[in-house]
Amino acid sequence: MRFSLLRMFGYFLGGLWTAWGGRKRIEAKQRRNLRRLVEKARADSPLFHRLYADVPPSSEVELRDLPVTRKPDLMRAFDDWLTIRTLPLEKARAHLADMSKIGVPIGGVAVFRTSGTSGEPAIIVLPSRFLEYSFGISLARFERYHWKFLREMRERGMRVTVTGGNGHFAGTGYNKLVRSLHPRLVQGVTFVEAEQPIARLVEQLNAIPVSNIVTYPSVLTILVKEKEAGRLKIEPVILNTGGETLTNELRERVRRAFPSLKYGILDAYGCTECLVLSFVCSHGRKHVHEDWVILEAVDDTMRPVPDGTLSDTALLTVLANDAQPFIRYDIGDCIRFHTDPCPCGSPFRSFEVEGREATLVHVGDATLSPLIFELEHERARRVQLAQTGEREFEIRIDAADEATAEVVFQEVSQSVQRVFRDNGLEDITVRKSETPPQLTASGKFHEVLPLRGVKREG
Ligand SMILES: [Zn+2]
Repeated sequence: MRFSLLRMFGYFLGGLWTAWGGRKRIEAKQRRNLRRLVEKARADSPLFHRLYADVPPSSEVELRDLPVTRKPDLMRAFDDWLTIRTLPLEKARAHLADMSKIGVPIGGVAVFRTSGTSGEPAIIVLPSRFLEYSFGISLARFERYHWKFLREMRERGMRVTVTGGNGHFAGTGYNKLVRSLHPRLVQGVTFVEAEQPIARLVEQLNAIPVSNIVTYPSVLTILVKEKEAGRLKIEPVILNTGGETLTNELRERVRRAFPSLKYGILDAYGCTECLVLSFVCSHGRKHVHEDWVILEAVDDTMRPVPDGTLSDTALLTVLANDAQPFIRYDIGDCIRFHTDPCPCGSPFRSFEVEGREATLVHVGDATLSPLIFELEHERARRVQLAQTGEREFEIRIDAADEATAEVVFQEVSQSVQRVFRDNGLEDITVRKSETPPQLTASGKFHEVLPLRGVKREG
């Protein structure tokens, strides 16, 4: 695996050229890229060869001609799915089980896994081409604002990624991978493990001149609390979040706690299946890289919903990855396309994300958003509500001592019960747990953990 600066530059120039041509050129480029990927998948992926048996010829195929694909089906046929024959599932699994190999290429490609918050984890295979695309296209979409903060970020200190370190997740692995292929691209970037005790995490961050933090909103919730308490001293100029929904409340709270945030919070939307799916413009909107990515907002029968309407799920097509085709792949996120053009003037469509189905709590016929629970408590560092049975929950508390934990439990439990009653749910058991709050495998902190298996498979 090697990173070609020349090819990266090709994506950069191509990206600029497409944007200058407006909608017409973007759509033409997208169609060309789609037809090329369909042809490649048909020729080299036995799974897609079968799947596309009745699909029109690749040179005239349209997106709507192609069937929807889903993670469990693709993962079951992993060896037939890839267009390369050098990485059978067994070999990929052995690689992922070896923690010394995080971010190390294998068989000419990079391999990561998803956290599996929406069921079975998926194994994601990235060719060099995808990496070159990621850097090239991101630079092509930069406005003056992005160049300015990039320069300031570099001058003022280090960019720190705070995510889970116990697995082959893109959060840590991607930086390591790029460092081994082309170190200059990730100069000034370092990594801090999210799973360690909060006091140690804070200590580690305080020892670095931090100009930028890249993390999940759930980890940011913990950091903001430490900053408010005066224990965390860092003064970043910009924060990047992703992987979860960033609420307006958290955004406001972070702004108040970190007055040094000259460039605010850039909340990107991507996933391991497509790390660079969209970009955040100077007006804070998310725009799809439509020349290389297709994102469809659909209802639960997989029919498109009009712009301005919240979708039931979204279909993702990654045109820059020809090693592992993701074509009309159901990602399970609810999205809504904006109906008006963005003030930034970008010709690329913009959208917002309404959260992930995997984090919703199902009790009987009721579906509750994790955001309606008030789990913040001034006397606890963090509190977690875990669903342990259909109508059973437990509260996990990280408190200073046992006496405090009891007070926190009483108050949080009352507030949780009130939420259930307000939603017409009676007879819900809420217990105090002896286990401390847990992070997900990839290092995200979910305040609310729904029962696995109760949710529908996405
Ligand atoms: Zn914009």
